[in-house]
This record gives sequence, C-alpha cells and structure tokens, in this order.
Amino acid sequence: MLPNHMKRKKRFSTGTGKFRLTAKTAPAILISDLHLTPESPETLTYFHSFLRSLENIDSLYVLGDLFEYWLGDDASETLGHSPVQDTLRDLTNGGTPVRVMPGNRDFLLGQEFAYRTRSTILKDATVQSFFGRQVLLLHGDSLCTDDEAHQKFRFIVDQPEWRSAFLDKPISERDDIGRVIRFRSNIEKRYKASQIMDVNQYAVDAALKTTEARLLIHGHTHRPGIHQWILNGRTYSRVVLGDWSVGPSWIEIHENDLQLHYQGIVERLDLNQI
Ligand code: MN
Repeated sequence: MLPNHMKRKKRFSTGTGKFRLTAKTAPAILISDLHLTPESPETLTYFHSFLRSLENIDSLYVLGDLFEYWLGDDASETLGHSPVQDTLRDLTNGGTPVRVMPGNRDFLLGQEFAYRTRSTILKDATVQSFFGRQVLLLHGDSLCTDDEAHQKFRFIVDQPEWRSAFLDKPISERDDIGRVIRFRSNIEKRYKASQIMDVNQYAVDAALKTTEARLLIHGHTHRPGIHQWILNGRTYSRVVLGDWSVGPSWIEIHENDLQLHYQGIVERLDLNQI
C-alpha cells in the first residue's frame, strides 16, 4: 500500500509539464416544475429526499414552478410551505448556493422568500456561466407564444400595479382569485391544441439571438428532452426539464457534458459538440 500523499500524486498529470487536476468538478443541478403543494404529499417527499441527497454539488437552480401556486411571501405559512423553505435553507446553510427563478405558477416569489431560504431570485431569462459556457435559463412559458391567452395573462401579472394591488388584498381573497385563475387555466389546458402548449421555434431563436448562448435550458412544458438544430451555421441546443409528478427530474451540468434525468431515463449532451 502506498502512503496517502503518494497516492494523491497520481491525480496530477505531468505529461504536459503542467499540473492538472483530474478529479471531477462538482456539477450544477437544475430542476423545475415540482408544483409543490401539501395536497401532493408524494411530490413533497421526492423534494425533501432529493435535496437531502445532494452532496458535493456546485449549486442548485430552480427554473420555475417550484410551488403549485404562491400567493405572496407572507402567505407561505398559511399555504403550508414552511417545510419546503426549511429544506432549501438547510442546503444553503450547508454552503450550496440556491438560485430560484419564479415560474408562471409561483411568479410572486419575492425577497422575503429569498431571505428565509438564503437563496437568490433569478430573473426569468438569465444568462448564467457554467464552467465558462454561457447558458440561457428560462422558465419557458415566455416561449409558448402560440398560447395567446397565457401571454395576455403574463403581461397583466407582470405589471407592478397589478402585483401590489393583489398583494395588498387579504390572503383569503388572494386565495379565491388564485383558485379562479388555476381553474380557468386547467380547463383551457384541456381544450388547447397540444402544439399551442409547446414552445414556438421563432420565440426560441429570438430569445437566443439576444445572447451569446448556444444552449437554452427551460421547463414549463413538461416535455423533457434534448433538441438540437442549426441556424446560420451554428448548432444550438435546447434542453427541457421534466416535471415531478412521477418522481424527480433534473439536469446535471458537468464540465464537459450535460445529463438530463427523467422517469428513470438519462439523456446526454456532449458540451464540447455545441
Ligand atoms: Mn410553468
């Protein structure tokens, strides 16, 4: 048996004359569309055990719809969301940065939530660098431009006046309004053509055009997969996260590859090929 300090030497490559660590770097983890609510205890169990199982990771990103709905940071206890916030804070307290992007269900996630969980709120459409690669992160509903009714809704609830008027109402009244919105959106979902509920390729290209990123990651559509296409001689990739109705779905971004996990399936994207 070699003494430990000699074993460690093997992890360096001296072939190029430079020392190079071959030890794996910690991956970034991305999740979305958990739609957490005390009404789905199974999904809550997936969430708590998944987060507690995360070890040696660089960071955790939540790309929207962590919660089934969010009536304002002051209503989280009433809605029974304290255990979720506690588990997030355990992770950040352990030294893992957590970044949360609001989705179309929990678009009212705010600074109080961020403070309680020691997380950072990400703007919808954020370019983030992972191992030196620019990646465009979105929840995804802004790309579904064929769904005109949803785009109208998005425009209204994005207005600061609408938000402050809504948040000024008593929680019970907000809850009633939220119920009506969700009821209508569930009915509409049933009747809208399935293409309308997916992203529009022009919207995808337009979003990427404003950035240097060649890789886009989003959730929202609940259609996990990896898509690649060529535009003006450049290869672009779009990776879609899955929802959590049947178990965790997540993306691992490593230095040279990306893994998409959903329903027991793993799809890979070689990041050196894009
Ligand atoms: Mn969504």
